[in-house]
Amino acid sequence: MKIICVGRNYAQHAREMNAPLPQEPVLFIKPDNALLRENTDFYIPDWTQEVHYECEVFYRIGRKGKYIDPKYALGYVDGIGLGIDFTARDVQQRCKEQGLPWEIAKGFDHSAAVSTILPLSELADPFKVQFELYLNGELRQRAHTQEMIFPLESVMAYSSRYFSFKAGDYLFTGTPAGVGPVKAGDHLQGYLEGRLMLDFHIR
Ligand code: MG
Repeated sequence: MKIICVGRNYAQHAREMNAPLPQEPVLFIKPDNALLRENTDFYIPDWTQEVHYECEVFYRIGRKGKYIDPKYALGYVDGIGLGIDFTARDVQQRCKEQGLPWEIAKGFDHSAAVSTILPLSELADPFKVQFELYLNGELRQRAHTQEMIFPLESVMAYSSRYFSFKAGDYLFTGTPAGVGPVKAGDHLQGYLEGRLMLDFHIR
């Protein structure tokens, strides 16, 4: 399986990163080694001094597809969860400055923390959800998926032109403003429509 991720999909986050608003979805992939499941603690790798949390709603893909029509895109989704796109910001910045791909800053082992997956039927409208991230009990990120620059249907249509979807793939939909560094001992808690989905520590 793979994790398809969208970057800069919330305007305020693009601004806080001093990045222009994208004209098309900004995509990258995390490999399966990136998964960190079921509220397992996250260990900061020894090659970075600055790991950031990015809380994101993700969807699980239920069947294979390519060149998906936006009209039918949501029919390819079979679950929803909340995740953290851990990012080695110092490494990413170095790569960006040198015009290099920043895959190592985003796709490293355990860089994609994922909650348990809810069936879509668990939520009143699984495609219109509010989510929050608390760091040590303090609210750091709060957004609604309707604030996404590129809605889920467009992201799926666009990304499936390049990366075929397979059953079991995840799609991370981008983080809102409020990203920041984590340090050993920190406690992350993420809520999706008021449900506690993420609850683990940084080591
Ligand atoms: Mg992200």
